[in-house]
Amino acid sequence: MKAKVVFKTYDQSQLSLLPPSYDDLVPTNHPVRIVNTIIDQIDIADLERSYKGGGTSSYHPRMLLKVTIYAYLRNMYSSRKIEQALWENIHFMWLSGQSKPDHNTINDFRGKRLKGKFKNIFNQVVLLLADQGVLSLKELFVDGTKIEANANRFTFVWGKSIKNSKERIKKQLRELWSYVEKVYDQEQLLPNEPDFEAIDPAEVTKTINAINDALKDKKVDKKVKQKLNYAKKNWPGNLMKYQEQEAILGKRNSYSKTDPDATFMRMKDDYMQNGQLKPGYNLQASTNNQFITNYTLAQTTADTTTLKDHLQDHINSYNQAPQSLTADAGYGSEENYTDLEEKEITAYVKYNYFHKEQRDKKHRENPFHPDKLFYNKETDTYYCPMGQAMKKIKSYKTKTKSGFVQQIHRYQAQNCQGCPLRGSCHKSKGNRMIERNHNLIRLKEKAKNLLLSEDGIAHRKRRCWDVEAVFGNIKQNMGFKRFMLRGMEKVTTEIGLIAMAHNLKKFSIA
Ligand code: SF4
Repeated sequence: MKAKVVFKTYDQSQLSLLPPSYDDLVPTNHPVRIVNTIIDQIDIADLERSYKGGGTSSYHPRMLLKVTIYAYLRNMYSSRKIEQALWENIHFMWLSGQSKPDHNTINDFRGKRLKGKFKNIFNQVVLLLADQGVLSLKELFVDGTKIEANANRFTFVWGKSIKNSKERIKKQLRELWSYVEKVYDQEQLLPNEPDFEAIDPAEVTKTINAINDALKDKKVDKKVKQKLNYAKKNWPGNLMKYQEQEAILGKRNSYSKTDPDATFMRMKDDYMQNGQLKPGYNLQASTNNQFITNYTLAQTTADTTTLKDHLQDHINSYNQAPQSLTADAGYGSEENYTDLEEKEITAYVKYNYFHKEQRDKKHRENPFHPDKLFYNKETDTYYCPMGQAMKKIKSYKTKTKSGFVQQIHRYQAQNCQGCPLRGSCHKSKGNRMIERNHNLIRLKEKAKNLLLSEDGIAHRKRRCWDVEAVFGNIKQNMGFKRFMLRGMEKVTTEIGLIAMAHNLKKFSIA
């Protein structure tokens, strides 16, 4: 026999003795309370000062700040979705005190009000978390990851194609002048040659006019005439456009027209796996105990050149340098090692071939490798495996892309002819030559000793689960793989909100 079914009472018009309070509906340890408590302790006077006053009243920036941060903590990045949550979600309603700013207000607050103001708020929260003992600013783990910009990948501008177009104009101007020379060849009275080197709108206009003047009253080939008309009509305008584009490019090779601050980069976590370049930003983050302590955005693909500025930003933010910094081989350059040494920071930073040196026996035991040759510092001489002296023949300075000056020394063996080891030693036609950067060799040796020490091994192991795990959380768990906003200042605020949400989410479960 079927048992009697009993349903729980369902009465939508049931009255309460006392109206329910939202506060009763929010659990004590809920992340929304953490956001509320932390942001209540932050000084936002700077943000408040940015309001001009007059007109209608404004929503309180502290409320908007809490709502925006909590939305990011809930993986909610669209202003329309945040607006919706303020009407439907009890936790948002509790946090906003039932204020209901619309999506435009939220967007303006995020994109305009927080511009240039959020970093200070973020730093205050990090210091609060450090006071709570969940993170330390003494040991930093640094890495970078690329995040796609909110920009169309097909609206690109390439520095190289601008350069090629300018070269093409230069070549065609020369060809047109050759025609003039041919015409005048018979008369032997050639006008002065224009300047072909300066490819800018004014100079090119002058050159085209000079060619036109020279061919005036002459019988000119129809095709040349057409070309000259085309050049006069289009080239000065095109060159003006190139000038503007070059100003936006700065030192970069590319940018997207929909977000000119975004640079085309190869994304590691490319969904299509087709190696396509996409407009994006290079996020540099320092972490400790999986909390983000600092973030900066770079417009370059390589991490090497970003460390100095990133570290300086940390020092400016917290008024103190870390005691140690751990990073992978992408950061192991002479410039970075020097900067860390000058700042007296213990650098657990790998360099290229660090692993190869440790793991590859062939590489480690190769007696012909320049690192394995005996060097007499007093006489500044290397000795090859045959015992022959390799004397210094030249010293010169080079500059890296970032302007760092490196001192290189060149050494050469006296006579390699007939040497039985030549086949294994080198492949050049003359006597063997090697180039050495003594400062870099010293810095790499120092880094190697640190990396192989007990502390170094511990830091290297920790780097993987400290900073790399943070990127995994942001991209996979928080689903943040593409910016919502455009422009360097706005995306910096956006990544700051993500970093803050990551930290507070982690703190709420700590
Ligand atoms: S080839 Fe030249 S540099 Fe190499 S071992 Fe022989 S003498 Fe020395």
